[in-house]
Amino acid sequence: MNPHEVLRSQAPSDTSRERRSLSAATRVAHPRPVIVGSGLAGLTAAWSLDPRNCILVTPDRLTVGAASLWAQGGIAAALADDDSPTLHAQDTLRAGAFAGDRDTVDRITAAAPDVVQLLDQLGVPFDRTADGHLDLALEGGHSRRRVAHAGDHSGATITTALAHVVSHAPHIELLEGHTATRLVTDQSGAVRGIIVQDASGTRREIDTDAVILATGGMGGLFAHTTNPTTALGQGVALAARAGARTDDLHLVQFHPTALDVGRDPMPLLTEALRGAGAVLLADDARFVDELQPRDVVAAAVWEQLTDGRRVRLDARAVLDVRTRFPSVSALAEESGLDIAHDLLPVRPAVHYSMGGVTTDARGRTSVPGLWAIGEVSRTGLHGANRLASNSLLEAVVTGQAAAQDISTRATGRWDTSVPSADPETVAPATTGASLPLERARELLDTACGVLRDGPTLQSAVDQLSAHTAGDGAYVAWLIARSALAHPHSIGGHRRTDDPGALALHGVSA
Ligand SMILES: Cc1cc2nc3c(=O)[nH]c(=O)nc-3n(C[C@H](O)[C@H](O)[C@H](O)COP(=O)(O)OP(=O)(O)OC[C@H]3O[C@@H](n4cnc5c(N)ncnc54)[C@H](O)[C@@H]3O)c2cc1C
Repeated sequence: MNPHEVLRSQAPSDTSRERRSLSAATRVAHPRPVIVGSGLAGLTAAWSLDPRNCILVTPDRLTVGAASLWAQGGIAAALADDDSPTLHAQDTLRAGAFAGDRDTVDRITAAAPDVVQLLDQLGVPFDRTADGHLDLALEGGHSRRRVAHAGDHSGATITTALAHVVSHAPHIELLEGHTATRLVTDQSGAVRGIIVQDASGTRREIDTDAVILATGGMGGLFAHTTNPTTALGQGVALAARAGARTDDLHLVQFHPTALDVGRDPMPLLTEALRGAGAVLLADDARFVDELQPRDVVAAAVWEQLTDGRRVRLDARAVLDVRTRFPSVSALAEESGLDIAHDLLPVRPAVHYSMGGVTTDARGRTSVPGLWAIGEVSRTGLHGANRLASNSLLEAVVTGQAAAQDISTRATGRWDTSVPSADPETVAPATTGASLPLERARELLDTACGVLRDGPTLQSAVDQLSAHTAGDGAYVAWLIARSALAHPHSIGGHRRTDDPGALALHGVSA
């Protein structure tokens, strides 16, 4: 799709919100695809469906609550003269402990340069060098300077640019202030509709045979997280209850440098700070190569904390640090810290979910009529550990792929390479004792942190299994259950009952 043609077709001629807001009568004769979530993935899918009419459901105003707005570092693409998609793919596979899907990794890294070009043409003001080239940043795990960025507020800049286009697109009907609560399936198991609920609790059903889940991650289910506290894995609950397969839910990425000042969610000190020269100190001594992949740095930080040392990030030697990292500087200031002068206390926090609703290359899930894109999906790009700045990229590529699939889809058999779900994971939302969210967060934090062991995981699974009628506890149960079923150390976590791996990584329990 030519972005210029699309932009021309979206000229804001007759686009009043009143005209486009969904009327009370939501049962329509010709069902439109429904996109759930207005982060970068959902916005991309909605925009890319042009000229196909669609409905975009989002709990608040457009983009509010999306982790996409919070991305600091940027978006990875092999754009430098000394770089190539092959090198980007190799770095992605290496960071992911070679557990990624080769085809997915090759496809998404190959698409990356075009994605950045598209965003550039959309008007995203990426930082540039004095000679006009994109100013590409170096981040942990990347062998080349590869991250296109807009200051240290890249996610907000990119997402807002796309939201502007979406809010003026006549083919998109915005349903703001609504949360998707259930998928409706027919007797064959195919999607036939979706239930949405507004802030007053009023529910309505939208008929559709195509739902794209773009609901983001699950970090809010953990007590220590950098994610919005609204990132509660709702998309996983919607999909899994409808019978969709999920995979790799136990593969959680811990960001090594969340600012540890008692805030929830924890402010993030971007990896780019370390790329620019900030160092990690444990009781004032360096202990790790700060540019190693996140899992290595997070495990090293965890080890120091477990041994009772104070771990702090020292960005004092980074040239012009306050002007180069204004968002980080502001976040630190809110806690009375000056990044140019103070040592910044840090600890690992849940940052990203590699697992999710399993999809094929077109975003199709195992349930006919259901697509998943962005962080809620498990595409196989990240393997056991996401390479920094690959997720905004994945959000755009998967959003485009799902939109293209829906636009060109022939009715009939749902063909996908995604296997069926394990029936034991499909829990109904029947009534049962509810579990306070804070309790689920504590349980997951304790059982599914950087260091894990079988008995603690079993206890969490047992406690959560009685509460799967609630979506938060259901997803927490799925995560803990997946962790229990995978007894080896890989990616972001280390099993303390997998001693070989502990020795390999030099982590003491
Ligand atoms: C602090 C931070 C920094 C990051 N930095 C980077 C970075 O530099 N580079 C990078 O590539 N990645 C980064 N990431 C990760 C990246 O931001 C996310 O993976 C990505 O933005 C996910 O996009 P998404 O569209 O899938 O989900 P989101 O942007 O989270 O959007 C999800 C949307 O779904 C909505 N939603 C959820 N449930 C429902 C429901 N039931 N009904 C209706 N709507 C619903 C939400 O309100 C939201 O609008 C960072 C993440 C964080 C938290």
